[in-house]
Amino acid sequence: MTEHYDIIIIGSGAGGGTMAHALSDSSASILILERGDFVPQEEENWSPEAVWRNRRYQTPERWLDSGGNEFRPYTHYCVGGNTKFWGSVLYRLRREDFQAVEHVDGISPAWPIDYDALEPYYERAERLYQVRGQNGMDPTEPPRGPFPHQAVPHADGMARIVESLRQQGLHPSPLPLGLLRVGEQDGCILCNTCNSFACRLHAKSEADVCAVRPAARRPNVTLRTNARATRLLTDQTGSRVLAVEVEQNGKLARVDGSLFVVSCGAVNSAALLLRSANAAHRHGLANSSGLVGRRYMAHLATMMQAFNPFRWNSVVFQKTVAINDFYLRGAGRKYPLGHIQSQGRTHAVMAQTVVPWIPLWAYQAWVARGVDWLVMSEDLPRFDNRVTVGAGGRIQLHYRPNNVAAHRTLIWETERMLRRAGFWVVVKHSHGGRNTTHQCGTLCFGTDPRESVLDPYCRAHDVENLFVVDASFFPSSAAVNPGLTIAAQALRVADHIKATELRESVAVQGSRFRTPNPNREP
Ligand SMILES: Cc1cc2nc3c(=O)[nH]c(=O)nc-3n(C[C@H](O)[C@H](O)[C@H](O)COP(=O)(O)OP(=O)(O)OC[C@H]3O[C@@H](n4cnc5c(N)ncnc54)[C@H](O)[C@@H]3O)c2cc1C
Ligand code: SF4
Repeated sequence: MTEHYDIIIIGSGAGGGTMAHALSDSSASILILERGDFVPQEEENWSPEAVWRNRRYQTPERWLDSGGNEFRPYTHYCVGGNTKFWGSVLYRLRREDFQAVEHVDGISPAWPIDYDALEPYYERAERLYQVRGQNGMDPTEPPRGPFPHQAVPHADGMARIVESLRQQGLHPSPLPLGLLRVGEQDGCILCNTCNSFACRLHAKSEADVCAVRPAARRPNVTLRTNARATRLLTDQTGSRVLAVEVEQNGKLARVDGSLFVVSCGAVNSAALLLRSANAAHRHGLANSSGLVGRRYMAHLATMMQAFNPFRWNSVVFQKTVAINDFYLRGAGRKYPLGHIQSQGRTHAVMAQTVVPWIPLWAYQAWVARGVDWLVMSEDLPRFDNRVTVGAGGRIQLHYRPNNVAAHRTLIWETERMLRRAGFWVVVKHSHGGRNTTHQCGTLCFGTDPRESVLDPYCRAHDVENLFVVDASFFPSSAAVNPGLTIAAQALRVADHIKATELRESVAVQGSRFRTPNPNREP
């Protein structure tokens, strides 16, 4: 007998995990399919050797780049998805990010919703992920109330740098961070292995701990791990998904559902739709626009390490400062440049993965004096930057960076700022087009079915019972970390599903779903 669930959520990361949490208080039967397993709480969680040299938690999968060369994507398949390893910097987009903005290389398109539509959901997402911050200090901050928790104070060494930045006329602000029970028993200890590591104490705000586990404790929610969705199967007309084909323990099975929420991450969700092509959807499911997989974005990101040979860096938790003075307009320039944030401490082993022939002791001496920063600029959605699937469903990522001049200028401004703050040397490193950490945009949302894949509530224009709530929906990448926006939109879509699809009152009589409504414009 085939199984049937009211709602099947595929993927348990920022989008899927948050969605599961938001729908779990309904009476719908919910299945979460997750291709990975739980990340165990173990010593290796905090071992730079295990995480960076042995890449213990990273998928062993290989993708192809634009040139057809294999690479191992920096992505994680597990309960909680990439949130398990994120730095937990949880930003709201700026109000301007929702509008069309002119950049050096062209226009960053407007979103089909404005900041005000997402604001209440940002607030809910910040509560769910227990974000710490301080409002009123960031010149680009959109209208908002206070954060649920106070900002993490700067350590002494960072406080001195912040003071120096202020003297330069900049406006450094506390980074909004999702950390649980800081300083309390069993809470976050503000260690130096947070960004890119899983938290051994389960004290980081991520989807596994904050959303998936609480949801899976409900009797109506089933979490199935090591279960990879391989295809979505539709009815003959192609207007409804009937089932998902799932690979588990080397076997394929079919699970039927009434409503499907795809949330595999921007690359994998596009790949799943492309692999689900059938007679009614010859070029991939929900692809009448031809946009499935296209307009891939991932930010232009550069790590910068600032040194003064006479300054030992004793800071343990360094990731507390943001600088947004160049976000909307570069100093004296016409175009936006991007965002600067301090990063977690680089470990010698991490640094050695970049240039392996330099001995570890040299790196140890180096990183002991380094202060780490991440510089991020928006990349624009380009038709030819895309995800495709080749033979055997293998993923190929075609990406040519754009807006590079803005990013170079931001790096130059950051270098200048750090030199003025007393650092002698600034070293830069970027993974370039293979950096998939902030992947987004492959199934963009919009009002016009010819120009977008999803509607403003992330429902596929072409398939009435299919929603996508991961980073795919972004029409533009903005220049702050994407996680909170993914979570906020998932909460918004969950509310919409509850209001339009779920018929709680008649659940006992059988169907929990309303009759599909042809006039379902938001
Ligand atoms: C090291 C690192 C640091 C980061 N730091 C930050 C940060 O500080 N702040 C921030 O906002 N963002 C950060 N990010 C980015 C952030 O993690 C992602 O933007 C976010 O997790 C994306 O959410 P998502 O729902 O789109 O995908 P994910 O969170 O990646 O979730 C996708 C899920 O789908 C599962 N899946 C994939 N394919 C299938 C399939 N076929 N069947 C079943 N399951 C499937 C995956 O296993 C995964 O669990 C960071 C990312 C990394 C890697
Ligand atoms: S203890 Fe705090 S800083 Fe360390 S990994 Fe956990 S959440 Fe991050």
